[in-house]
Amino acid sequence: MKKIRVNLDKKVASSYEICIGYDVLDRIGLLIAKNMPAQRYAIITDANVSSIYGGPLLDRLRAMGLSADIIEFSGGEEAKNIGTAMDIMDRLLRLGADRRSALVALGGGVAGDMTGFVASTFMRSVPYCQIPTTLLAQVDSSIGGKTAIDLPQGKNLVGTFYQPKGVYIDIKFLDTLPGEAMKSGLAEIVKYGAIDSLTFFNFLEENMNGIRERSREAFEKVIENSCRIKKGIVEIDEKEQGLRRVLNFGHTIGHAVEAESGYVISHGAAVSLGMVAAVRISEKLYDLPREDSERIERLLEAAGLTPHIPETVATDGIMARLKADKKKEGDVIRFVLLKRIGMPFINGGVPEAVLHETLEGLKR
Ligand code: ADP
Ligand code: ZN
Repeated sequence: MKKIRVNLDKKVASSYEICIGYDVLDRIGLLIAKNMPAQRYAIITDANVSSIYGGPLLDRLRAMGLSADIIEFSGGEEAKNIGTAMDIMDRLLRLGADRRSALVALGGGVAGDMTGFVASTFMRSVPYCQIPTTLLAQVDSSIGGKTAIDLPQGKNLVGTFYQPKGVYIDIKFLDTLPGEAMKSGLAEIVKYGAIDSLTFFNFLEENMNGIRERSREAFEKVIENSCRIKKGIVEIDEKEQGLRRVLNFGHTIGHAVEAESGYVISHGAAVSLGMVAAVRISEKLYDLPREDSERIERLLEAAGLTPHIPETVATDGIMARLKADKKKEGDVIRFVLLKRIGMPFINGGVPEAVLHETLEGLKR
């Protein structure tokens, strides 16, 4: 397996490994036992993932003589709330879990965020590790230690920074991932291309067809590189006080559109159009070369992401949400924009007229 070490706070105690391989469930079992010794393990997963991968993982842990159980929840963003968290904690107690227990997050972003949140609060925190099964979780949400649950008012409004003891990625899990879920991961990968380097962007352009055909080699390279990019950023700025903000590229407008659509538009589609809006604004205000913005739009199309805002999602509604966001940061809405591919920066505010015009230009 490929190993990437994440070093936080220069403290050995808070560093951990991201391990990536193909068809490596056995190895993952061994890594859990070695890197996260505990008296009892609870695998926390959504019902869907549980039915495919829950049994095999549970068998692995038990075959090693570990005491392990599965806690299933219904899954989906609708379930990522305090009620589900309490239900999981209730079941942990009934299984006899205590401070010497450890949690294993098995699933996509929802299972990862939920398990991390429960792990950071149950008994004033117990260790956990991440076994991400979606492309989005493998390249993005499982790395960096952000945990979250939603409130009725919005997504991810409650959470903690709490690092896992390890992130174990089996690319074979992606064999069963539906195409739409795949696209959400691809949007985050294009984001890394745009903010990290021309080298990675070129690589993505050359390999996007292979990725869409689910070539194992293409996946291995793309996932490993994406993990390296994210870990590099998280190491420098664990709590998102500076550099980590560049990971929000495409997300400010993306979140506003996602919410304004009533979450009918997927995260990947919303982030894609947020990125297109950001490159168009960068072109208008900061001389991002036309060639660069066209390359980003072409790469998104090659990924199967068509960045358009449906007519039914009102521009004024999106603007209002952006302004509500703005209150948090004082007077201006800050955006991650680009000088060139691979050269992001945080801008000091975009004039409302430019924003409005850019959003209108994305309508279809
Ligand atoms: P994301 O990582 O995109 O936030 P979610 O946690 O919401 O994803 O999972 C999206 C859906 O995909 C859920 O219904 C989940 O059960 C399902 N899923 C996750 N991983 C897999 C997989 N490897 N194969 C099939 N379905 C999966
Ligand atoms: Zn995202």
